Amino acid sequence: MNLQQRDEKHLWHPYTQHQTAAKPIGIVKGKDALLWDEDGKEYIDAIASWWVNPYGHSNERLAQAAYKQLTQLEHVLFGGFTHRPAVELAEKLISILPKNQQKVFFSDNGSTAVEVGIKMALQYFFNKGEKRFTVVAFEDAFHGDTFAAMAASGISFFADAFKEHLLKVVRIPLPKKGSDAAAKKLKEVIAEHHPAAFIFEALVQGASGMQIYEPDALDKLIHIAQENGVITIADEVMTGFGRTGRTFASDYLTHKPDIMCLSKALTGGTIPLAVTTATQEIFDGFYSEDVNKALFHGHTFTANPTGCAIALEAIRILESDEMQANLKRIARRHQEFLARIAKYPSVENARTLGVILAFDLKTSQNTDYYGSFRDKLYNFFISEGVILRPVGNIIYILPPYIITDAQLDRVYDVLEEAIQKFSNQ
Ligand SMILES: *Cc1c(COP(=O)(O)O)cnc(C)c1O
Repeated sequence: MNLQQRDEKHLWHPYTQHQTAAKPIGIVKGKDALLWDEDGKEYIDAIASWWVNPYGHSNERLAQAAYKQLTQLEHVLFGGFTHRPAVELAEKLISILPKNQQKVFFSDNGSTAVEVGIKMALQYFFNKGEKRFTVVAFEDAFHGDTFAAMAASGISFFADAFKEHLLKVVRIPLPKKGSDAAAKKLKEVIAEHHPAAFIFEALVQGASGMQIYEPDALDKLIHIAQENGVITIADEVMTGFGRTGRTFASDYLTHKPDIMCLSKALTGGTIPLAVTTATQEIFDGFYSEDVNKALFHGHTFTANPTGCAIALEAIRILESDEMQANLKRIARRHQEFLARIAKYPSVENARTLGVILAFDLKTSQNTDYYGSFRDKLYNFFISEGVILRPVGNIIYILPPYIITDAQLDRVYDVLEEAIQKFSNQ
């Protein structure tokens, strides 16, 4: 039996209706932007394996960093102990994050990073004896699948079954160019609900289909929130570490968030690790003679030394001239591709920021998130050896930064073929 057949017996996959879904593809090898399945078929990973892998699969430098750390100190508990990789990674992160970020709290993945950020905000006010219980979030946001993160997420069917059990969240629309609706709504919501926090995906809503919005608009919202004592939480789990062309999406902003959540590319897509960073002021809200004012949150693998050592090496790779040149190259090539597909009337909302490129394909078919049109597109791309996951009728790519020009050409060609084949169906 091959992997695909053996998988079926015991495996339960994420976001998968096992009765109707196509069988998962057994992947046996990855190198740079390429993956190979158990039949030897080659794929270009055009979405960096769910947005985690910027520096390529089976990266030699990250593997060396992992090996070195695994044979020096693979893990030690972080309660009452510390270690060099955590200290050095925290120092490094603080040196590249917006200046107001001063404290680093470790966890395991994007959802836990968000969970921690929301708990920090809620307990900050609890510790002060201030009644702020609500969280403000954007419509169609995605912040993860654990309970607080899921509550903040606005892609409704993800949380339908749990509606009765969620944190109180009020929504505002994503800012639109030339409209003040989002700012107006935020002011109303603040006056009515006296929220604790405003959480947002900085500049790009990923899971809802790479919806890009303006830095100026976000700046204004952060400013309104901060003027009213609302803690701002930038979920940069997807946008962090170069995706938007800058190290962080928050680098485009004048008003910096109070709390930031990072994961995905943090370890170069090797193993799970996440951080929630905070200002000194947030930290000081927990600093007390009273033990009950501490943040009682932790995970067994908090600040795993191997993860931290890999993350440090990953940031060094990001900072290299070669990787910075890659970011510019991909951004420029995406612009060229947008010009190339401008002639197709069925292509709508074509957009790009950094290495992210997306467009909507006009269709009269079912455009549900996991609908039939999406499946047709997905199957077409897989058959062409390009891995990407359309969202309804939205097609996006977010390649690893090391993708070659020839591989990128191939991805663009397949995208254009899809436009010609599936337009106005
Ligand atoms: C992926 C993602 C998360 C959740 O991260 P996980 O590691 O999947 O738990 C949270 N926020 C954003 C913006 C994401 O893209």
